[in-house]
Amino acid sequence: MLREDVKNTLIKVVGAERYLDRIEELACYGYDSYLEESLPEAVIFPLSTEEVAAILPIAGKHKIPVTARGAGTSVCGAPIPIQKGIVLCFSKMNRVLELNTQDRYAVVEPGVVNGDLQKNLTPLGFFYPPDPGSINISTIGGNVALNAGGPRCLKYGVTMDYVLGMEVVLPSGKVVNLGSKNIKDVTGYKLSALFCGSEGTLGIITKIILRVVPLPETARTIMVSFGNLDNSAQAVSDIIGSGILPVAMELMDKVTISEIEDTLKLGLDTEAEGTLLIEVDGMAETCEREMARIKEKVKEHGAVSLTEAATADDRENLWKARRFAYPVFAKIGPDIITEDVTVPVSQVPSMVRKIREILNKYKVMAGILAHAGDGNMHPLIPVDRSNPEEMAKVHRAIGEIFQAAIPLEGTLSGEHGIGLAKSEYLPLVMDENTREFMTVIKRAVDPDNILNPGKFV
Ligand SMILES: Cc1cc2nc3c(=O)[nH]c(=O)nc-3n(C[C@H](O)[C@H](O)[C@H](O)COP(=O)(O)OP(=O)(O)OC[C@H]3O[C@@H](n4cnc5c(N)ncnc54)[C@H](O)[C@@H]3O)c2cc1C
Repeated sequence: MLREDVKNTLIKVVGAERYLDRIEELACYGYDSYLEESLPEAVIFPLSTEEVAAILPIAGKHKIPVTARGAGTSVCGAPIPIQKGIVLCFSKMNRVLELNTQDRYAVVEPGVVNGDLQKNLTPLGFFYPPDPGSINISTIGGNVALNAGGPRCLKYGVTMDYVLGMEVVLPSGKVVNLGSKNIKDVTGYKLSALFCGSEGTLGIITKIILRVVPLPETARTIMVSFGNLDNSAQAVSDIIGSGILPVAMELMDKVTISEIEDTLKLGLDTEAEGTLLIEVDGMAETCEREMARIKEKVKEHGAVSLTEAATADDRENLWKARRFAYPVFAKIGPDIITEDVTVPVSQVPSMVRKIREILNKYKVMAGILAHAGDGNMHPLIPVDRSNPEEMAKVHRAIGEIFQAAIPLEGTLSGEHGIGLAKSEYLPLVMDENTREFMTVIKRAVDPDNILNPGKFV
């Protein structure tokens, strides 16, 4: 609990109804979709930039940590208030402020759920491409602070590629406006990029200007099975190398498909060692041509069966397997680690092979799921966090997976971020000078280290 005088000062800013500090309330804000927990001392729901700008100097004066929170769907521990203090939860600051299709932008508050923005844009014939699997729960503020990706980011790019500008409250309480509504804007440092992936360690984002794009005319989707995992990964690398850029190319290995089929009974090919879900979008004729070339490529790589969606319902059904992979493995649990190792796409076949070898070596039951077209692999590892032996074994396997990615010029995270889960591995991919450079930036912006302390910087 915060000191009574500090609590009263904060309540003066937001009112008692938007200030929580009963233990049963705090318990709801001390975790995310990773394995650790740490209860804050207070949870505050701001409604405006002015309130955030009033709260931060109070926290700074008393050296109270402040951790921003969207929906808490992070899978790396990023919003866990590991040094307690205040959680600033943005679920009530969730208005879509402006939609402008002529100038192709949307202005939103940080608590807007990604899927709600999409629902606002669809009737206008537009969409916002980044589509994390958590699209119906996670917030734009959280997406920006973790630079989230998703299946269709293969063709369209990740969150940062759509951030035109933002309003940020710095720890001092000063409000800065970074970027603008212009699609092109080269005016000084691109400071908004600094906040993409900053995990709430530099400033609190209170408004975001996003680029939006017209909906494609049509889409074509296929699911392809291979008798060999390596062949499916080779097909991915070959399709991309041949100059075709699908919207999505998702890979699922045999363990993943078997578990999904076991739960959902979708009629998936459980004999397949590797399954690809491939989608193209755009003008009908272009889709037709691209899909024909993709079909040739997968046949060259030994595809044993191919299902093509004829209707929108069929398409939804094919995507259902992919979308339910996470909950299916979470159910095996009781807990789940979703890894996020990433390599250049030409190295996907080697990396998939390595991951499977390492999982087998440590006898770790896990499915391999990948946004394979952009080299982003998500081993889904059901674990029991209360079992120290099992956790130690899984930890060793994960460490080895990261080690295996380095010689392939890979990295620790393609989209989930570092949070608590991966800070120990940071030196594997970032030299001392670069880490020090991040620390210099952090110290300059947040000298008292009140914003999300105890994380990667
Ligand atoms: C089922 C499932 C599927 C997922 N699929 C994907 C996927 O496909 N791609 C992907 O990239 N991720 C995925 N994720 C991970 C997660 O959903 C994303 O990282 C998402 O961006 C987190 O958003 P959130 O609103 O839940 O943020 P939170 O988890 O609440 O917070 C994330 C980080 O953002 C910071 N933050 C939040 N709001 C602000 C703010 N206003 N100002 C400053 N910092 C802020 C927090 O401090 C924290 O560091 C998935 C998670 C689940 C559970």
